[in-house]
Amino acid sequence: CAGHVNWDVTLAVDRLPGADGEATITDQSQSPGGSACNVATGLTALGSDAAILGSVGRDEHGHLAVRALDAAGVDCTPLVTADAETAVKYLVVDPDGEVAVLGNEGGNEAFDAEDLEAATLAAADHLHLTSQDPATAATLADRAHDHGLRVSFDPGRRIDARDFTVPLARADLVFVNEREAATAIEDHFGPADGLDKTVVLKHGAAGAEVLTPCGHYASHDGFPVAAVDTTGAGDAFAAGFLTVWFGDANPDYDRCLAVANACGALAAGERGPAAPLSWDRIDALLDG
Ligand code: ADP
Repeated sequence: CAGHVNWDVTLAVDRLPGADGEATITDQSQSPGGSACNVATGLTALGSDAAILGSVGRDEHGHLAVRALDAAGVDCTPLVTADAETAVKYLVVDPDGEVAVLGNEGGNEAFDAEDLEAATLAAADHLHLTSQDPATAATLADRAHDHGLRVSFDPGRRIDARDFTVPLARADLVFVNEREAATAIEDHFGPADGLDKTVVLKHGAAGAEVLTPCGHYASHDGFPVAAVDTTGAGDAFAAGFLTVWFGDANPDYDRCLAVANACGALAAGERGPAAPLSWDRIDALLDG
């Protein structure tokens, strides 16, 4: 999984900053953050091997992130330590699940795709790209394809179409929510172009649908949960989808979506970006 590695501090508050009155912090938790970390920890929780590609700063938050990722079973060998500060992001969540993001997301971009060891790619089956500068994403995707890997892409918070174009063009599978679809899909997959990749369209609580280049279509409703914080729901969704999809030339797309929606719902049901994923919890949702 390639992308930014932050240190995320999740603060539960009785009201968001800027709302009338003083906000009171009622709970807090900390974890490595950034879409790539969330997907990687989701994948290991579901039994896949995952490594993280990116950089952390040579500082305490960088150490903390690496230790936590190691403990979650994520291979941090390809992670570069850079002379930059690890970005610390504050996710302030009110009782209705509204989130305000404070801090400097993605300050540490010192990752050079050319430095990635060929052995790391040779040992992998798949590359998942998240928010990344377009040039790095392009090089990573090209190198991954040269090694026979399949590539997926989730634009995450970057909704500027210019940031999309390069990774979107190279990915075999893309995850987009409705807002991103409005920006990206209409620009890049007009009816005349045809679809040259599998597109997974997420509809928040309502679920998701998938369309493949050979015309296979599936959709699946979301699972009703009391949503307390949807941060990381899309990442948990991607981890679930990929776990079922990996390595299968003819995937069961209904099951891909069912597992993905269950993972997204589990993430939405708890505060913080790191989703509490386990097959027991997924099966409990799938079994109703
Ligand atoms: P993103 O987080 O990328 O914007 P979505 O908000 O669509 O994407 O959420 C990703 C997935 O997480 C959804 O497709 C759904 O499966 C699940 N999800 C998100 N919000 C909820 C919710 N309130 N209740 C149940 N499932 C949810």
